[in-house]
Formats: sequence, structure tokens, C-alpha cells
Amino acid sequence: MTQYFEVENRDGAARIGKLLLSPELRTPCALHTAALGNLENPGPVVDAGSLWTGSQEELQERIKKIREKTGKGTLVILPHQAYPPAIPAESLGKVKTFTSDGNNEIDGPAGSLLRIGGEVQKSDLYIIEGIGTLENNARRFLETLIDLKNRIPPDTALYAPNLALPENAAMLAYMGIDVTDDTRAEIAAYSDVYLTAAGSFYLDSLTEFPCRCRVCASTTPAELRTLPKAERAKLLAAHNRDALDAEFSLVREKIRAGNLREYVEGQCRVRPWLTALLRLGDFEYSYLEERVPAFRQNQLLADTSESLSRIEVVRFAQRIRERYTPPDLDILLLLPCAARKPYSTSQSHQKFILTLGKYRKFVHEVIITSPLGIVPRELELTYPAAHYDTAVTGHWDEEEKAWVSGCLEDYLSKYNYKAIVAHVEGAYREICERVARKLGIEIVYTAGESLTSYESLSSLKNTVESICTSEGFNRKSQNAEEEKKNFVKAVASYQFGEGAKYLFSGEVGTPVVKGRFPKYQLFVGKKQLATLIPQYGMLALSPEGGELVLKSEKYVVKIDDFVPRGSILAPGVLEADHGIRPNDEVIVLGKRALCVGRAAMSGKEMEKSGRGVAVDVRHVKKL
Ligand SMILES: [Zn+2]
Repeated sequence: MTQYFEVENRDGAARIGKLLLSPELRTPCALHTAALGNLENPGPVVDAGSLWTGSQEELQERIKKIREKTGKGTLVILPHQAYPPAIPAESLGKVKTFTSDGNNEIDGPAGSLLRIGGEVQKSDLYIIEGIGTLENNARRFLETLIDLKNRIPPDTALYAPNLALPENAAMLAYMGIDVTDDTRAEIAAYSDVYLTAAGSFYLDSLTEFPCRCRVCASTTPAELRTLPKAERAKLLAAHNRDALDAEFSLVREKIRAGNLREYVEGQCRVRPWLTALLRLGDFEYSYLEERVPAFRQNQLLADTSESLSRIEVVRFAQRIRERYTPPDLDILLLLPCAARKPYSTSQSHQKFILTLGKYRKFVHEVIITSPLGIVPRELELTYPAAHYDTAVTGHWDEEEKAWVSGCLEDYLSKYNYKAIVAHVEGAYREICERVARKLGIEIVYTAGESLTSYESLSSLKNTVESICTSEGFNRKSQNAEEEKKNFVKAVASYQFGEGAKYLFSGEVGTPVVKGRFPKYQLFVGKKQLATLIPQYGMLALSPEGGELVLKSEKYVVKIDDFVPRGSILAPGVLEADHGIRPNDEVIVLGKRALCVGRAAMSGKEMEKSGRGVAVDVRHVKKL
């Protein structure tokens, strides 16, 4: 816990924070490396120096002087002995660590060095020892980062020195680094290297400057080349520094907009090690999954092959596998996705629905799509099913087909239908055929080349009709009421897992869904339990609904003996379910109140943070 760093905005592992120093620093950012050594006139962050050369006493005196000058406005990186990360922690027995003499000259913001496997000292800023040497080594980089992030408190800042360039700034922020510096940008300038987010250029190779900063606007590469080395380097350094700052501004905007992932998916192509980091980050899964919000307000663009391994996509598929139960119907209809979301509002789906007519109540509809895999009709509103867009070419690559087939195969091997009809063509049909062959099941195909042609739609109608009127068909169906209830039930299960069953147990009365699609409301008698929020397809609970879901003991935040007003701050949280993700609907329980609201951070972070809003409370019920 720290008083000097506050996280304001999160998007996955990336976050926007504030280092409460003088002047205040907005993170993620790049420090001016040269200023770190300025102890005479200290800026917001200074490095107190090395234990290789100074004695404890000298260094203590130094810190005291800094504090006298700027008080708590300066974060002091405590004296340290740095080693290259290649030397394993266990052989560092003799590393000198700085200890204060107890007179609290450290009193105020402080930073300390941290290495993989090393001991975590109390600090406001952790500096990753030797991380700069791990450039181009995505695996070691990620391993180090995850080890450190899992051990330091979430409300402290993490500093990766000697690494940032405009080209990797977005990836560093995406992975959860808050602070960097301009060491590399400065070194590049002295080597005649011109930096951009799209990579670096030798000054010699440039005909024009792809930038309009003050330096670039007032000179040309040819002119710059004629200047003496020192002067040239100064100007290049000014541009490089500017390019780095501009990139961090852009990154912060991307975090605010909730689309840093999309940006990074493109940006990482500049360097293979950055692309490797993107992929390895997804393979690691839990590090990012814990931090990725349950929903976003903005669109999810699935335009690259890595979209298939993106946390939101994998999580959706996983929840269908683990939490979803289909309604009790005997006919499955597989449909292709549509560009317009929710699918049911698209022209093609409108036609399918119209065609099914009175037989629709016998049919369970599941939509096949890339990259989400399969989307049961009841979850078509739920993030990210109604929020993704993808480049449609009609061509599916092998990875896409394999992923979507896998999702369909999982589903069909778990649930038995009396009849499976697929109104699909092209790659969708290929996927269905592949799964049918593998599982040895029969699928009836009803579409020709055009899904909405008169022939195709007639074939769909006739096929479903003949199944429904065949002898021995048990006529399992859902009426309009049941359909609405199944819809809300599917969303509740997706969101709360087993906790959903308490909303529908009938223990407190028969649950009824009121309202027109998509504004469904779940009632028991006159008591409202939950409302479906169409924008992201999830339920907002009422306190009565919260009381029921509470029985599963999941999505619960326990607070102390107080009645909350407005938001609940992290220090007020005693215990929180580690399954809680940012934006999850949660139930807050204390001795004096039961509340419902939305998580602003993950459950783990609520427990470990000393600052920041943990839950935005919507309703408070005094107990
Ligand atoms: Zn420039």
C-alpha cells in the first residue's frame, strides 16, 4: 500500500495512474533519466545512488538533504547494488541492502530495486533490476514481469528502466508497466538514430522527417546531417524524447478508450519480440485474465490472428463450456453469424426467424462465429457477442476453423439433441461437417449457396416442420414466457455461474421475466430481482436479487461494520472473491448493510489495495 500512487483507470494489466509527487506524474510515462541524478535540484524522482561507491552514512545524509529540499514531493530511489539479472537470486547472499537508521529520513515516497525471486521491501515504486537486458527475450521478460507483479501490492508503481522506445511503449504499458525512462531514446540520439512508433531509422537513411515536432518542423534530415555531432544529437534527442512522450499520451488515450489491445495487436508487428510478448501474454492467460474487465462499452475489433487467443474471446468460450446449460429442447438449429449485432436484429436472422414461424418454439438456436466460436441465442447480447467486429473476407484460415470447430465439438459432445439442423454454407458448413464426422453424429443441411434464397428458406422450413410433425417427436417446446426466462437464466449463469440457480430456484416465489426484448426484468411477485442491461448484455441485481445470489458465496465482497454511501473504497474491503473481475456485478456484505454494485477492480486487487474505489454501489440495504 502506498499513499503516493493512485490507479485511476484500468484496461487489462494496463492502467493510468498518478504518482502524487511534485510535480504530479501521470503514468504510464517516461522519466527523464538525466534528472534522476540531479540531487542538487531534485525533480519528482531521484536516484539516491549506488551502494557500490557510497557508505550507508553518506547515503543517509544524502537522502536527508533531498528531503530537506523537496519534502515528500520527491520520490527517492533508495541506494542499491544492482546486478545483471543473469546472476541468480540465491547467489546474491552478499548484496548490500540499504537500511535506514530508524530516524525516518526515508519518510516520504521511496523506490526500491526488485529482481525475480528477490525480496519485496515496502516501497511506492519498484524498479525492475536489469530489465533492459531482456529486450528481445520475450519469454524471460514476461516471466520476470509476472513474478514481480504477483508479489508487489497492486497499488504500487512498477518501473522498467533502460528499455522504453516509442515502438515498445504501448506493449510495456499493456503488460502492466507504469514507469519507464528516456535512456534508450537519448542513447539512440547520440548514435544518429531517429525514433518513431513504427520503428527506428538511421538519420543517414531519411529523406524527410515523419513528424511535426518543433525539431522536425524546422529542419530536414539533410540539414541535420551537416551539423556537428553534439548539436545533431541534441536535436535528435529532443525529437526522440518527444516521440516517446507522444506515444505514451496515445497509450493513455487508448487505455481510457478501452482499446489498447487492438492498438497493441497492430503495433507489436514492429518487432518480433513484441509480437512474441502479445502471444505469450495470451498463453499465460491468468495474469491478464484476472485484470481484463467483464465488459467494455466500446467495440471489440477482432482483426488479427491473435484475436482468437484474446482473453475476452477465450473467456467467453470457457464460460459457455463451464457455465452454460441449454434449454430443454430437442431440435438444434445452427446458424451463421451476421455483421449486425445482436444477430437477431440482422436481416438474415430476421428471415430465419420468420421462416421458422410457429415451429420456432421447438428449436434451440446456436450461432457459429469467428472468433467467438459458438453463441447460443440467449447470449447474443452478452459481451463480447454483440460487441465484436471482424474483417469479413469469406475465407477462413485453418486456425480459425480449428478453433471454432473445437468450440462446436465441445458443445455437441456435451449435449444431445434428437435432431440437428444447420442452415449454413461455406466455411460454416465445413466446420459442421468436420464436427459431425468426428463425433459420428448426423446434421441436416438446409441451405444452398444463398442462405436467404426462397429455396434455402423453404428447405429450412420444410425440414424443421417434418421433424416437428414426425411420429415420436415429443414436442418439447418453450412458450414466449419460458423463452424470456431461459434468456435471462443463460445470462445469469454466464455471469454468476452456479449462483444463478438461486435466482430461479422458486424458493421465494415463481420467477417471471417482464418487459420486451432486450429490456428484460426478472421478478418474483412484486419484487424485482434483476434487470438486463442491453448495452452489455449482463444483469444488474437488486438487493433482493443480491441476497439470493449471495448463497453461492461467489461474487461477494465483505466489508466491515459500516453503511456505505456511494462507492466502497479498497481499504474498507475485508475479503473479496478472487473470481471478481473489473466491471463484474457484485454483492457487498457487511454487518450493517447489503449492497449491490459493480466492481471497479478485481477481487484480489480489492483485498490488497490501500487506495481507490473497489465497488461502485448502486443500492444499499441496511441490515
Ligand atoms: Zn519530431
